[in-house]
Amino acid sequence: MPLVKAPHKELIDRTLRIIKKYSLHTVCEESLCPNLSECFSSGTATFLILGKVCTRACKYCHVATGKPQPPDPSEPVRLYMAVKELRLNHVVITSVDRDDLEDCGSSHFKRCVEFIRSRDESVRVEVLTPDFKGLEKALETVVSSCPHVLAHNIETVERLFRSVRPQGDYRRSLKVLKAYAESGVAPVKSGLMLGFGERWEEILKTMEDLKKAGVSMLVIGQYLRPSGLHHPIVKIYSEEEFERLREIALDMGFKKVLSKPLARSSYHAKELL
Ligand code: SF4
Repeated sequence: MPLVKAPHKELIDRTLRIIKKYSLHTVCEESLCPNLSECFSSGTATFLILGKVCTRACKYCHVATGKPQPPDPSEPVRLYMAVKELRLNHVVITSVDRDDLEDCGSSHFKRCVEFIRSRDESVRVEVLTPDFKGLEKALETVVSSCPHVLAHNIETVERLFRSVRPQGDYRRSLKVLKAYAESGVAPVKSGLMLGFGERWEEILKTMEDLKKAGVSMLVIGQYLRPSGLHHPIVKIYSEEEFERLREIALDMGFKKVLSKPLARSSYHAKELL
């Protein structure tokens, strides 16, 4: 595996201080992301809205499962304040799954995006959303907030969905991506994690499905097991295999491709856009 860049402690501490000051959560911390030092030291973070308790229990994810609190109406303001203080010009907003809410949290997403966009047009906002149970109304709500990137991660191949994302549905995720692409509002991005036991042909088939759904930006990374209770790592892919997949994806017609062991959908998001 490649080395993770050396952290700049002061910058990391500052980012953490600001996140704490505004009582926000980041997926970087909650998911134990291996890029945290690099991202925080460059002032990048991916905000996790709608709390840090998820209604689903994906087998690769370190975020806690349980009964979440109701959405906090002050979150869009706190988020905006943090974006300003961190001097971010590209912000990635994601959330836990909120299957407990009637709109699956889509209107809260919209409020967060609109609050930032209406106050500072120079900030680009990327949303990385759950599947919102495929609810058309929820997808329309997020699209209507006009983010600069619409993202939803497929994460794994169709055959492994049941064991890796038991409450997810491969076809439903493709439907979400297709709806985002058909809206024409923003480029559509998706991410795939490797190492769950998928076959090479299944990876290529998933990439084809994503392309057909209208995805133009693709991120492929290696799955790293957050704890012994999570899905085991079945295979560690080599740098050469990631490079091969990058070339294949570009040949398939994806416009932007990031394929590296430590690539995550929010990693180098600004540069990818
Ligand atoms: S790659 Fe994404 S989740 Fe990981 S630290 Fe960077 S911004 Fe956070």
